[in-house]
Amino acid sequence: MSCLFCKIVEGAIPSTAVYQDELCYAFADINPKAPVHVLVVPRAHIDSLHDTGANHRALLGHLFWAATEIARQKGLGQGYRVVVNIGEHAGQSVDHLHLHLMGGRPMAWPPG
Ligand code: 5GP
Ligand code: ZN
Repeated sequence: MSCLFCKIVEGAIPSTAVYQDELCYAFADINPKAPVHVLVVPRAHIDSLHDTGANHRALLGHLFWAATEIARQKGLGQGYRVVVNIGEHAGQSVDHLHLHLMGGRPMAWPPG
């Protein structure tokens, strides 16, 4: 198994856990782009959001719920962003579905 985030989920590669449950694992991004930058990933490997189907609907809702729950715990009531990069044009660099939760500073729109 060569997937970086699968190895992080399994603990084979260390990470700073932020939240975890039976469906997902959330950890601090190693190269944070905001004061709060957390990655929320499903425990089960999925390449990208583009590879999800009707059978993933509940899981996808769960991932967004987890991101928002973390945002509440981190006091991000002033606002934050949940970002999913999908594929080459969006700059997805790790092929294991992940939500970026970013906050703690004002952010420009649109992103680059
Ligand atoms: P993407 O560019 O695929 O949307 O996001 C991948 C994210 O994973 C990047 O923000 C990058 O900093 C983060 N990342 C890459 N390798 C590691 C790692 O080994 N540990 C952690 N915690 N984050 C990583
Ligand atoms: Zn994986």
